[in-house]
Amino acid sequence: MGEKKIRARLRRLIVIFLAMCVAIFWVLSYVSQSVSNLYLTSIHDRLEEQAIQYENSFHFKLDADLLTLRAMAGMLQDHPDQDAKTMLLGLQEANNASQFVRLAYFEEDGCGFRLSSKEEGGVPVCLDQLPTALQDVVALAWSGTSSFSQAFYDPHVGSKVLASATPVYTDGQICGVLVSAVESDVYAEIFSSLNSGTAAIICHNGNVVASTRTHTPDGFYNLFSSPYLSDDIKEQYRAAFEDPKVSFFEFTYQGTDYYNCVLPMEVFPGSSMVITDTDHGISTSVSEIVRLAYLAVGLFSIVSVCFMLIALWLLRRYRISLSSIAYYDSLTGAYNKAKFLQLLEERLKQASPCTVVAVNIRKFKFRNELFGTPDSDVLLRHMCTILYQHIQEGEFFCRDSADRFLICLEASEEETTEYRLQTMFTQISQVADSMHPNYPLYFYCGCASSVSYASDDPLEELMGHVMMALDVAKQGQRTTISFYNAQLHEQEKLQNYIENHMEQALTAGAFKLFLQPKIRLQDGTLGGAEALVRWINNGTQAFFPDQFIPLFEHNGFCVQLDYYMVEQACRQIRAWLDEGLPLVPISVNQTRLLFHQTGYPQRLREIAAKYQISPSWITLEILEGLAMEDVELVKQCLDELHSYGFRISMDDFGTGYSSLHTLGSLHIDELKLDRSFMVQAKLDKQGNHRKILAAIIAMSKNMNMSTVAEGVETADSEQMLQELSCDFGQGYYYSKPIPAAEFQQLYLRK
Ligand code: C2E
Ligand code: CA
Ligand code: CA
Repeated sequence: MGEKKIRARLRRLIVIFLAMCVAIFWVLSYVSQSVSNLYLTSIHDRLEEQAIQYENSFHFKLDADLLTLRAMAGMLQDHPDQDAKTMLLGLQEANNASQFVRLAYFEEDGCGFRLSSKEEGGVPVCLDQLPTALQDVVALAWSGTSSFSQAFYDPHVGSKVLASATPVYTDGQICGVLVSAVESDVYAEIFSSLNSGTAAIICHNGNVVASTRTHTPDGFYNLFSSPYLSDDIKEQYRAAFEDPKVSFFEFTYQGTDYYNCVLPMEVFPGSSMVITDTDHGISTSVSEIVRLAYLAVGLFSIVSVCFMLIALWLLRRYRISLSSIAYYDSLTGAYNKAKFLQLLEERLKQASPCTVVAVNIRKFKFRNELFGTPDSDVLLRHMCTILYQHIQEGEFFCRDSADRFLICLEASEEETTEYRLQTMFTQISQVADSMHPNYPLYFYCGCASSVSYASDDPLEELMGHVMMALDVAKQGQRTTISFYNAQLHEQEKLQNYIENHMEQALTAGAFKLFLQPKIRLQDGTLGGAEALVRWINNGTQAFFPDQFIPLFEHNGFCVQLDYYMVEQACRQIRAWLDEGLPLVPISVNQTRLLFHQTGYPQRLREIAAKYQISPSWITLEILEGLAMEDVELVKQCLDELHSYGFRISMDDFGTGYSSLHTLGSLHIDELKLDRSFMVQAKLDKQGNHRKILAAIIAMSKNMNMSTVAEGVETADSEQMLQELSCDFGQGYYYSKPIPAAEFQQLYLRK
């Protein structure tokens, strides 16, 4: 899996994971909310149940008290002739059996007597001196209704009391009102079954009628004047008291949560039954569990995200270290080709064009051998430094291989690009000069612009153009900069055509054997022939060897072609033999690639054997440059070819770099002097080239090599060669390369 994919997956994983965490948190909070709602409802139900139960008990107790009072009133009814005091004293005994702390009897004028356990006999009392709560119930009794008062403090009793009043009738008429008072704390007994929390009956003005709590020293307690409850809590009580239905609320006091149920009392209007309880730690445990779950999920997500981030970070580090291996050149620290192509691919997506340049150092291999690798490395690093200094924003370069650098420049006029490159080369050369003053540094470089590429793969096309321009520049001598242009474009098209049709042409026999005679200079007789290939399509020459041979050498097809040409030459000799014609050896050009083919000499031997001809009729023309490549390999090959009987000719002698030493170490039978000797000798007034030719021919004779002069075009040339004792002449002066049949007709039938 690619690194990009891993990163994308990790990122996706983090997102999914975070989403899962959010979902878990949501579910957790939903569950905890539901649990606490459920729990709250159960508490509310419990509190309400208790409140209702206590209200009923209270109701029952009040009714009982009222019943007792009514019974007493009934007793008074039977004695209409007695005065108020006597009547009241008559009740004293009955009162001892009740819980009334006080009894009072009022007549119509509002005056009467009161009786209490602490006071002996009745004490006269007037209604208007008594608390309004009491006055209110007395007034109601006069209207025929028995009722209870709100709680009030009775200083004579020393505690808060609840008063009840009932009318006393005589002959069906209300003649007085009997009042009783009960210590309100007595009602607290109804809460005796309460196991936890507090319960209270509270008037809506805040006065506590009865409660499970002991209160202020005066025995009276008003909720709203309590110093312990905050305004907020009081406010909640107030709101609950105003609510005609049962209501619930919670508050926290000194770190404990309190749940409250406030039930308006029907039996005792203006008061509510208030039950307050804690959750006995259950809700704390539930919320503790929920909190722990939150914590666990939170911790788990943090740790997991950390792990994923670490994985991403490690991946990043891994990528950086990988990219430094994969994308940088270890020698110079510049980008390598892979990175360059990656950047270029991105750059080509931009609308503005760019120019890509390939730069090579001329004869770098030679410098490497001469001054050593460390010296060349210094030069390459220096070149890199200068390129860094010159490139501008958006431009980049790499070291492709050995001495080749690829540069991507912003597109501009060819002159500007050329000027920029020349400036860089001058600076690099200055350093090279300081290192080795006698070995000037030259470059060849190919440039192509990215404008108007229609192909599917603009990168490959552009790089192909750069390399094409580079090949052209390579043919120059000193520093050469060449640009890919229309002419090169035509050449490219031609090359494409050739490459697409070469295989087909070979099988169709389009490659024809042409022969050019080699003339013995001493007597003008035929000494041999050179096989030269011609690509003939429908009777006309399609392409010249110079158009396709270099290409075939490049793409390797030359190997197949040369085997084919050797076979054609052998077939021709066989045909001449069969026809009883005089034979001449045929020279066949051999590409350097053949020497890297395993079994090459053996294969040639097999071809000769196939046509049952002696290999001595075949001369193999090899290029001078080949000898430079791998002397040992070439020597081995040539020796083997010799052992089979083939003759070897060194073609284009004088153009390559072979040393005389190399020449000496190889077994060569013939030296073919390059055509340029003929051209130069003609131009040279001082005769220096003639002297060189003379020396080469003399040396060849000494080394038992025959000599062939190429490009003999005039009688003068022939004469010069004859004078120099050159063995053979080949050129247009005698004949152009002609079809084999024509050659046979012209030279062998004579
Ligand atoms: P080369 O081996 O040096 O062949 C000689 C070339 O010079 C031939 O060109 C020939 O036509 C030309 N020539 C001969 N006499 C004269 C003359 O008096 N004046 C001038 N100006 N030119 C002359 P051609 O046939 O176009 O071949 C070009 C090159 O192509 C050959 O150079 C050879 O290197 C290569 N070549 C041709 N045929 C083959 C082949 O079958 N195999 C291989 N590997 N290379 C071949
Ligand atoms: Ca040749
Ligand atoms: Ca030649």
